[in-house]
Amino acid sequence: MGTPKAFLTIPRQEAGYRPIHERINDYSEVEQTLNTSERKLQASRCMDCGVPFCHWACPLGNRPPEFQDALCKGEWQKAYDILSRTNDFPEFTGRICPALCEKSCVLKLSFDAPVTIREDEAAIIEAAFREGYIRPQQYERNGRRVAVVGSGPAGLAAANQLNRRGYEVTVFERDEQPGGLLRYGIPNFKLGKNIIDRRLRIMEAEGIAFQTGSEIDLARLPEGFDAYAVCTGTPQARDLAIPGRELAGIHFAMEMLAQQNRVLAGQTFDAKERITARGKHVLVIGGGDTGSDCIGTAHRQGALSVTQIEIMPQPPVGHNPATPWPQWPVVLKTSSSHEEGCTRRWSLNSNRFIGRNGRVTGVEVEEVEWLPAPDGGRPVMKPTGRKEVIQADLVLLAMGFLKPQLPQLPQNAVVAGDAATGPSLVVKCIAAGRRAAADIDRMLNAK
Ligand SMILES: Cc1cc2nc3c(=O)[nH]c(=O)nc-3n(C[C@H](O)[C@H](O)[C@H](O)COP(=O)(O)OP(=O)(O)OC[C@H]3O[C@@H](n4cnc5c(N)ncnc54)[C@H](O)[C@@H]3O)c2cc1C
Ligand code: SF4
Repeated sequence: MGTPKAFLTIPRQEAGYRPIHERINDYSEVEQTLNTSERKLQASRCMDCGVPFCHWACPLGNRPPEFQDALCKGEWQKAYDILSRTNDFPEFTGRICPALCEKSCVLKLSFDAPVTIREDEAAIIEAAFREGYIRPQQYERNGRRVAVVGSGPAGLAAANQLNRRGYEVTVFERDEQPGGLLRYGIPNFKLGKNIIDRRLRIMEAEGIAFQTGSEIDLARLPEGFDAYAVCTGTPQARDLAIPGRELAGIHFAMEMLAQQNRVLAGQTFDAKERITARGKHVLVIGGGDTGSDCIGTAHRQGALSVTQIEIMPQPPVGHNPATPWPQWPVVLKTSSSHEEGCTRRWSLNSNRFIGRNGRVTGVEVEEVEWLPAPDGGRPVMKPTGRKEVIQADLVLLAMGFLKPQLPQLPQNAVVAGDAATGPSLVVKCIAAGRRAAADIDRMLNAK
C-alpha cells in the first residue's frame, strides 16, 4: 500500500464528463481524464485489503491493490505489467466497464466512495501506449492453427491468448471491420474506434490474420484448423410483436446504433435507408444500457425529444437492500446520455403502435403493477387499465438479445462470450475468450 490511511483524507475524485452543451454536438468520448498527480492520489486511496473484494468481483481476476500500489508510486510500467497479466484490453474495460470491482470495493461499503479502479486502469493503459511499453512481440510458433469465428471482445481475447501461446490464428469476421459490438454497437462517445484500431494494429503485427467480410457457416467450419473458438455473439434482438409493428419508423436499436457508427467511419447511406432522430420525437422501449446508448445517439442526431420506457418498476435509488454489498447493486443507473436529457418512465407495457399513412405516430402504453410470484420466482405483471398514448415518430426497440441456437459443433470447437452465455459485458467476454484459449491449448496438448 503506497500511502496508509490516504482513504481517510483524500476524497474520491472522478474525472467526470465533458460539459453537456459541448458533448452533445459531437461523437467524441464524453469522459475526461485527471492529471497525473491527481491520478496517483486516487490510486493512493487503496487500502490493500487483506481480502480484496475488488479482485473477487472482477471476472478477469484483475489485481487492483497491486496496480494501485505501483500507480501511486509512479511506477507506471510496473502497473501496466500487473494489469496486462490478467486483462488483454484494459483500454476497452477502462472506458466502458460498469466496474464490478468498484461496487465491491471495501471503500464502497465504508464510505460509499470506492477507489476509482476503472479510471485508474484507463490511465495506466493510456500511459503504456504513450510511453511505448506496448510493442508488438513475436512468439515462437508451435505449428498448429486455430480459427476464431467472430471478432468481438471474446474473439479478440481468444485470438490474442492463442497467438501468445504460439498458435497460428485466423479470425473470421462477417462485418467489414473487426470489433463486434465494440465497433458496431457501442457508440463512439463511449468508445472511440481509434482505440480498437490501435489494438488491432498490434495484434496484426504480432501475426494474427483477420479475414473480414467473411461469414462462416457454423455447421461447416473451415477446414485446415486444429481447433475453433466460436465467438459469434447474440446477433438477434428481442422483438415486440404487438399490433402496428409493421409501421415505418420502428427499428431495432442496433439498426440505428450500427448505422450511426458506420456513418462516423465514413460510410454513406441514402436518405431512404438512413435512420435518424433529427427533428423527431424519439421513444426508446427498454430501460437498459442499449436504450441509454440510443438516447445519447438521438441527442447527437438532433432529436426534438427523447423518452425511455421500461416495463419493470423503477429500481431503488442509491442502495438496494435486496442486493447488499459486495454484490452488484441493482439500483437506478443514470448514464451520461440520461444526463443529457430524457424523460424516463417505468412500469409501462406497450399495447400497440399507432400510425398514420403507414408511419408510426405513437405507442399506446398501459401502466402495470408487479405482484410477487406465489412460488417466489419472477414477479407477475398485472395490467391496471390506465392507458395513454406516447407521441413518437421514431421508436427504437432496445429490449435485449436472444441467446442463439448454435448447430452441433465438432469436439475441437469451444464457444465463448455472449454466444455461450447470452448478452453480458465486455469484461466477461474478454474473460471467456481467455478461458476458451486456455481450454483449446489444454485440449490440443492433451492430444
Ligand atoms: C448497444 C450496446 C452497448 C453496450 N455497452 C456495453 C458497455 O458499455 N459495457 C459493457 O461491458 N458491455 C456493453 N455491451 C455488451 C457487450 O458489447 C457485449 O457483451 C460484447 O460485445 C459481446 O462480445 P462477444 O465477443 O461475445 O460478441 P460480439 O461483440 O457481439 O461479437 C460477435 C462478432 O461475431 C461476428 N459473427 C457472428 N456470426 C458470425 C459468423 N457466422 N461468421 C463470422 N462472424 C460472425 C459478428 O459480426 C460480431 O462481429 C453493450 C452491448 C450493446 C448491444
Ligand atoms: S477493495 Fe478497494 S480498497 Fe480494498 S484492495 Fe480493492 S480497490 Fe483497494
